[in-house]
Amino acid sequence: MPDSLSLPVDQQRVAVAACTRMFHHLKILDHSGHVSVRLPDEGGFLIQAVAASRGKLEPKDIFTLSLDGDILDGPTDTVPAAEFHIHSEIYKARPEVNSVLHAHPKVPILFTIAEGAKLIMVLNHAYRWRNGVPVHPDSAHIDTVALGRDMVATMGDANAVLLRAHGIVLASENIQSLLIDGIHFDRNAEALFEATSLGKPIPMSDAEFDIFEARFDRAKHGAKLWHHYATSAIEAGVMPEAWRDVI
Ligand SMILES: [Zn+2]
Repeated sequence: MPDSLSLPVDQQRVAVAACTRMFHHLKILDHSGHVSVRLPDEGGFLIQAVAASRGKLEPKDIFTLSLDGDILDGPTDTVPAAEFHIHSEIYKARPEVNSVLHAHPKVPILFTIAEGAKLIMVLNHAYRWRNGVPVHPDSAHIDTVALGRDMVATMGDANAVLLRAHGIVLASENIQSLLIDGIHFDRNAEALFEATSLGKPIPMSDAEFDIFEARFDRAKHGAKLWHHYATSAIEAGVMPEAWRDVI
């Protein structure tokens, strides 16, 4: 399997559309939110048009933007997603990040609106966020450079940030990893929420995370879940079959 970061831009557009449709099928994306990928050689990044349906996103609905937000390529009858600054400011500050998700899934957001609630890590795959998930206090849209920078300052070197009363932002090394991170972030929040009704949740310990990480093959897991959730989306009739093998 080729490194997804080195794929031609046409295939990267298909990958963004495929990942978006999978997240929509999983109800992690709904009417808003977006997936992006960084292009190599300072070619900017790909992000969808503002109003294009997440469940029917097509490669032609995807813009290429510079990290300064200039349109380099894309549709001429619409504009990019208004919160693209979430993505561009992370790419400017975090060279190891090549794919970003912004979404508004219900359960993770609950941990930003209930007094005293804290999103702790209770499942093994939550090792990505073992050092904690900061909560950005600004609940309004992140639609300027300055607001994006503020959010990145809150995020620091974490792999996720919660936006209070608004949503989540996840940062990953490629789009396959972003898919698994999106799924496991949501699962951890749901498991924590449900476990609370049974008893005091037990956080994963550093020792447990160390053992999990030592035995975990992230690339293999990413390929497996991409195949599984793409197949589910194809069987549900919400994604073309040819998109499964784009990466
Ligand atoms: Zn948002």
